[in-house]
Amino acid sequence: MAKFRKIGILTSGGDAPGMNAAIRAVARKALDEGVEVVGIVGGYSGLIQDNIVPLSPRSVSNIISRGGTMLYSNRCHEFKTEEGMQRAIEVCRKHEIDAIVAMGGDGTFRGATDLTNRGIPTVGIPCTIDNDITATDYTIGFDSAMNTALKMIDCLRDTCESHARCNVVELMGRDCGQIALYTAMASGAVAAVIPEIPFDEGKALARIQRLVKSGKRSFLVIVSEGVLTEDGQKYGELLTKRISEQTGVESKFARFAHVVRGGQPTLRDRYTATAMGVRAVELLLQGKSNVVMCELDGKIVDVDINYALIADRTYKNKLKPGDLDSFTKEQIASMQALAEQRKQELASLYKMVVETSK
Ligand code: ADP
Repeated sequence: MAKFRKIGILTSGGDAPGMNAAIRAVARKALDEGVEVVGIVGGYSGLIQDNIVPLSPRSVSNIISRGGTMLYSNRCHEFKTEEGMQRAIEVCRKHEIDAIVAMGGDGTFRGATDLTNRGIPTVGIPCTIDNDITATDYTIGFDSAMNTALKMIDCLRDTCESHARCNVVELMGRDCGQIALYTAMASGAVAAVIPEIPFDEGKALARIQRLVKSGKRSFLVIVSEGVLTEDGQKYGELLTKRISEQTGVESKFARFAHVVRGGQPTLRDRYTATAMGVRAVELLLQGKSNVVMCELDGKIVDVDINYALIADRTYKNKLKPGDLDSFTKEQIASMQALAEQRKQELASLYKMVVETSK
């Protein structure tokens, strides 16, 4: 067993409900193992600026049910420079931080692997409402964000039905339509528009017209914020106008934006945060690092961070020259299989939304 005296925790990138539950789990498990714990306040910039606070079992009390992150989050450009990185290492040495648990998305994990390479063992915990980390089936915050959206969409459904209207709802998701797609399925939307799958607007408008004739009064359409028009405008508002003009169904637009990033985490997120947090500490104590906690087929497992980052680029068709050089043929094949699996999962969900919008 690696004998760590002190573990640091940081949250970075976009916040997600469940981050606090993960902080609590890491802190309590480490303290239970006799390891000191410090919070790094404000992500990687907190590290560079030496903003470090001790954490005790009591200082993480009453946070399991709260959204946001008690350690705050930040985007830190300086951390991406060698100077910033060296400063971060100096602060770790000064505070005798032996290892770090970094919570966030792929940017956060890139930072984590840089720290590991410079002698500070790091484990990542995936926290992002977008569920856009290819290596894991699930990221902390996804369920909470969708349930927050769903509650509000159910409200819109009521009023749409009373007034025979359509409501187009724009949800977060720049490159990833999972929040929009799952929420569309669960809210009984007539269509979902996501960045990954081309949208047939003509077909969708014709479907609405057909459904009006069959007596349907209310319609919901869910659009990801990342879907843009040819001239770079967000598509949701344009679609709202076109539905009104071309189907005769009065249509309203709602942008939920950051609302879905806040609020109480669901049981699913609190559970995953706790299970991943506890496991992250166990792994560090076993001498393992440079891994990200993942959920695969319902099990919490650890995956090499570099593999996770490149699997992501494989899925997003964003591989850069040399990215695959350090991987074996088997690893490359498994990344490609994973990317294909993710595409199929999305396509079958999309099909389900269309098939049930009758
Ligand atoms: P997320 O973790 O949600 O993907 P970001 O992409 O904004 O969010 O990344 C969070 C932080 O991680 C950044 O502000 C930066 O400090 C750090 N980071 C991102 N990319 C890198 C990188 N290539 N190398 C080192 N650190 C990075």
